[in-house]
This record gives sequence, C-alpha cells and structure tokens, in this order.
Amino acid sequence: MQSITNIFPQLDTAKKVVITMHQKPDGDAMGSALGLYHFLKNLGHDAQVISPTNWASFLDWMPGTDTVLDYESKTEQSDLIINHADWIFCLDFNTLNRTKKMEQALNDAKAERILIDHHQQPQTEKFAYGVSDVKKSSTCEMVYDFIMGSGHADKLTAPAAECLYAGVMTDTGSFRFPATSANVHRMVAHLKEKGLNHTPIHEALFDNFSESRLRFIGNVLLNRLEIFFEYNTALIAIPQSDLIKYDIRTGDTEGLVNYPLSIEGIKLAAIVIDRGEERKWSFRSKGNFDVNSFARKYFNGGGHFNAAGGASFDNLDITVAAFKTAMKENRDQLSTYTF
Ligand code: 5GP
Ligand code: MN
Repeated sequence: MQSITNIFPQLDTAKKVVITMHQKPDGDAMGSALGLYHFLKNLGHDAQVISPTNWASFLDWMPGTDTVLDYESKTEQSDLIINHADWIFCLDFNTLNRTKKMEQALNDAKAERILIDHHQQPQTEKFAYGVSDVKKSSTCEMVYDFIMGSGHADKLTAPAAECLYAGVMTDTGSFRFPATSANVHRMVAHLKEKGLNHTPIHEALFDNFSESRLRFIGNVLLNRLEIFFEYNTALIAIPQSDLIKYDIRTGDTEGLVNYPLSIEGIKLAAIVIDRGEERKWSFRSKGNFDVNSFARKYFNGGGHFNAAGGASFDNLDITVAAFKTAMKENRDQLSTYTF
C-alpha cells in the first residue's frame, strides 16, 4: 500500500470514483463517505457512494444520502458502477469482509482501492494507496486531513463540513474520548468557519427516535442488564423477541452499550443482540482493558482499543455463556484495572 499522498497529483484528472464504508454504516462511516463525496464532486470527479447495506434513518438528514446506493437492494446497478470505477475509496473499515455481500465485487474490481481508516490491523495488500492510523479520532478527521493535504481546501463546502462534523462528533463520544486531539478541535473550528451549524446536527442524531425505542431502552435496562461487580463488567443480552415487540429498526440499538459505563467502577461493557442471522456483539471499555484483542480472541471481531465488535453464530444462551467464560479468563486484567 503506497501513501495516499501519492494520489494528490492525480486528483486534477476527472475519475470515476466509488466510495464505500462498512456494513450498517454509523455516523463516522456515512459522514466520511459523504464528506469525501461532496469534496470529489466539487473537484469535478464522477463520484458515487455505495453502502454495503441499509443504514439508520437518523443519518438521512446528511446532505447527499438520497444519492447513496444500498448494495443489497441495488446489487446489479452497484456492480455495474463498481466494475467501471477507476478508484474505490474504502472508508472506516480495513478488511474487505466488513462489506458483507459486497466483498466479492470489491475484491474483483479492476479499480485501485484506496484506504482511509483508523482501525487496527489493516489488510494492506488489498489497497493500492491508503492511510491507516489508529491514533485518529475518526475517519472523518482523516478525510478532513486528506482534503487539507490535497491542496484543495477551497473545495471543502458547508455540506461536506456537516457530514464530517457528524462523524467526528459521534466517534469521539461528543469530543470526550482520548483520541480527541487538538487537531480535532482545530478541525471543528475550521468547519464552523465554513458555515457549519452544529446544533441541528445533534438534534437530528440524538433527538429523532420513536416512543417505542425509548420504552425498549427502559426494558433493556430493567430486564436485560447483568452486572458482575467482581469483574467490573456489565453485560446486556437482547433476545430477538424484544426487537420484534418494540419494533426495533437499524440504528435503534446504537449507543445502548454505553449506558452501563455510567455505573461507578464498570470498566467493561458488552452487549449482544440476537439479530436472527447472527448474534452481534459490541464491547466498550475504559482505561487499559483492550477490547479489540478481546473481540478478536473470543468473538471473530475487532475494532479499537476501547470500542470493538464481533459476531457469533451460536445461539444467544451459548454465546452469553462463552462471554462469561471469557470474562473469567480475564479476571486479572478486569479486576486490577488502572486508568
Ligand atoms: P460498534 O460496537 O459500534 O458496532 O463497533 C465498535 C467498533 O468496532 C467500530 O469501530 C467497528 O467498526 C468495530 N467493529 C464492530 N463489529 C466488528 C466486527 O465484527 N469485526 C471487526 N473487525 N470490527 C468490528
Ligand atoms: Mn470510525
């Protein structure tokens, strides 16, 4: 994988560009994809964002979401565009299997794949160019750096600023996590100068849910949360029947894993949701417990040091039992936790 700076001279020639991100894109994945999309369009490129799957409706306010293709519902059209692309930007993921059904098309494409990502252990052999930096707060910060480094800062407009802000804000837990560097705050200051209006973005992302989702959260906290104080650990296990009862949609469960971290002393929070085709895990930690390694070792997953995910094809009871065993195996680390 060559340095991404090597494509800067090529930005002056119009290209057919596909931009994609991980399945079930979150604020950072969709925000970075659309931020880059607006920038490349302003530079005169023919750009198309393709999401491997559908996404949460609370992202639909982002300028340009109406142009995004969902690979699962528009497979033929997407394959055609992928096959004719010169470049494929891969944002906020670093192994092709995180694009589910799109993996094959991405792998077989003639286009040069370009990586912009902040997760651990990238599949560098799959990318012609790229930048991979686990110290970065968000892929949105990295797209911002890419735009600044390209020498075309004048092509960063308000719609791109809104998308990039959404991703950097959500991936930093509203500027709370350790990766929130001075560069992040400088970036936001610059986005404000470009016309960013941040208050409606917070409302669109956080105050835009159904009554049944709030009642679902009540049910989860009351009935599905288990605390293991001797391990400084909390676990939430959600059966499929809850998702049906409360009419839970894509995105409605995002952020749930953070609730137990508000309990004094909790260092590891885990949530598993029975999604039918798989049991999907999310892990969050505070301080020196490495959930990326934990997710890799026990749940076919990965992510960041303090935020990771994984999946299991065992039933809910079995995967919950596996979690408890894993927790016990990590007793030393979990009980002797330090910041
Ligand atoms: P979340 O819990 O919000 O879904 O994901 C937390 C972090 O872990 C994100 O950076 C996400 O990209 C990563 N992640 C989530 N699930 C998986 C997975 O199954 N495999 C890998 N490698 N990373 C994951
Ligand atoms: Mn991210």
